[in-house]
Amino acid sequence: MPTFKEEGIVIRKKDFGEADKILTIYTRGRGRITAFAPGARKVTSRKTSATELFTHGYYFFHKGKNMDVITEWEILNTFYQLRDDLNKAALAFYMAELLNAFLVDGQPHYPTYRLFLESMSLLSRAKENHELWVRAFEVKALNHHGFGPELYQCASCTNPLSVEKYFQVGHGGTVCRDCFEDGLLLTEDQLLFIRKLARLNWNELSRLRYEDHQLIDSEKILAHYLRETLEKELSAADFVKQARREIKITARKK
Ligand SMILES: [Zn+2]
Repeated sequence: MPTFKEEGIVIRKKDFGEADKILTIYTRGRGRITAFAPGARKVTSRKTSATELFTHGYYFFHKGKNMDVITEWEILNTFYQLRDDLNKAALAFYMAELLNAFLVDGQPHYPTYRLFLESMSLLSRAKENHELWVRAFEVKALNHHGFGPELYQCASCTNPLSVEKYFQVGHGGTVCRDCFEDGLLLTEDQLLFIRKLARLNWNELSRLRYEDHQLIDSEKILAHYLRETLEKELSAADFVKQARREIKITARKK
């Protein structure tokens, strides 16, 4: 039976039957794969941790008729922090769902694989500013897939931007006054912050100083852009809001 090995990260899991799981694994070399993990839910199974959500490792597959079957594995990182912390879990769910919206089965894309893995790793280790890594992932993933956003000139006619910063999703980012029809009017500060998210590397971002409102504004602007670009609402975005509320309530009760 043909077998293959892939490095990957579990981005979705579904219980199946009494003791099995069906996993979606985003792999480095083959893109998104859906695979069957027999016996993965048995309490005694060694497979349990390797088949947890967000686990990163090497997976060995049997090529199945309808679905590939996971036979062996080697864990590189369990990323347990992404399951143990409610806020991080909500954000990681959201990032996995967003990633899924960009992917096409069987089409590997190494820059996106690396971006996702690095963002998840930074989120898992983050002591504060968890959302910074999510915002950076959003704008960089859009970029990788050719969805813009243009942030430096008019996305429609390439003219320089006016003093007022118009932002129109339908045109793919910033637009000049002549091309603007409807959309958002950004402040200079809001635009500069999104440019930083897009341009700075992880090291530079980890040293970035910013105010809370800059991160909150960028969330709204990027959510608007993603909704229009992907033409769908991500259900995990609600989960993030819910988790935030839960955490606030817990904090108050103490
Ligand atoms: Zn223009």
